[in-house]
Amino acid sequence: MTSGPVPPADSIPPPAPARHALVPELAAVQAGGKRAVARALAAVETARGQPALVALLDAAAKAAKAHVLGLTGPPGVGKSTLTNALVRRAREMGRTVAVLAVDPSSRRTGGALLGDRARMKTDPDDQGVFVRSMAARDRLGGLSDDSVAAVVLLRAVYDLVIVETVGVGQSEADISLVADTVVLCIQPASGDSLQFMKAGVMELPDIIVVTKADMAEVARRAASEVAGALSLSGSAAAGWTVPVIRLSAATGEGLGAFEAAVDRHLAFLDADGRRAALRARQEEKWVEEMVRVRFGTHGLARARKLPQGASSPFAREAELARQLTSGQD
Ligand code: GDP
Repeated sequence: MTSGPVPPADSIPPPAPARHALVPELAAVQAGGKRAVARALAAVETARGQPALVALLDAAAKAAKAHVLGLTGPPGVGKSTLTNALVRRAREMGRTVAVLAVDPSSRRTGGALLGDRARMKTDPDDQGVFVRSMAARDRLGGLSDDSVAAVVLLRAVYDLVIVETVGVGQSEADISLVADTVVLCIQPASGDSLQFMKAGVMELPDIIVVTKADMAEVARRAASEVAGALSLSGSAAAGWTVPVIRLSAATGEGLGAFEAAVDRHLAFLDADGRRAALRARQEEKWVEEMVRVRFGTHGLARARKLPQGASSPFAREAELARQLTSGQD
């Protein structure tokens, strides 16, 4: 029970302007360490559609500085182990890094599975590493709108962003919504490469990794299987030959070759404005996907006929959502 006099109704202060208090400015997110980043990510989940969040996300989209590496592959292939190794090496080189693990199983439980992230071995006091797992709410194995927004924020703060998704068939395609470089991880002797080739997934990756190279003979066989599958299906982009790299995150073998391939891909993207073009295409896709998830394919068809308005993606989405909701088409 509360004690003391109850203030008259008109003296009770109005509710705090929570929407503004909850959504920080981009400069504060960039300067505020992990706590500020966590606050911004919380706002992504709670302040969707609010003008302050739309402004934050559009500012972050323009301030992208990280290389976004997308790691995808079946469960157990070794993505977390590889991520751990990459985080350690990035920190040794003085680069800051964020990891976003998109967890498909949390779709059923409705929350991100922290147990999964227990495998990430990072120093909680290191301000240069940020790890977060998120649920793939909207689509199986894929990226939710919230995960896209999270990547947009993280890549405006850190030097390297690693996005891990569990790929099972076509859902690998979603990683290309946010990644500059898509890395498909394949387990030795799993027959996965054949599966992937059938599913058309071989056209997606920029780099293919055959994990667990310390299981030497099987890894070699898997690598040559993959190379065969690739030669049949063609690769991601004209002018880029998809390297197939055998590595062992456990022993460190092949990690240097992998990083060299990632650097080569980055140089390829940065030549002739390919990265800017890729990101512009991704932004187009975000708006489309956000509208499709909220308003269905019918809504998307209506949105295509509406004036597109703002050039920045989150403002455009908000504008389309407003028009679709109010039926102004
Ligand atoms: P994820 O589900 O794709 O994230 O896979 P994990 O990284 O959790 O790895 C699955 C299992 O494979 C774990 O038991 C790892 O210890 C093991 N593993 C991962 N990388 C290697 C490796 O390079 N060599 C060997 N021998 N085992 C590995």
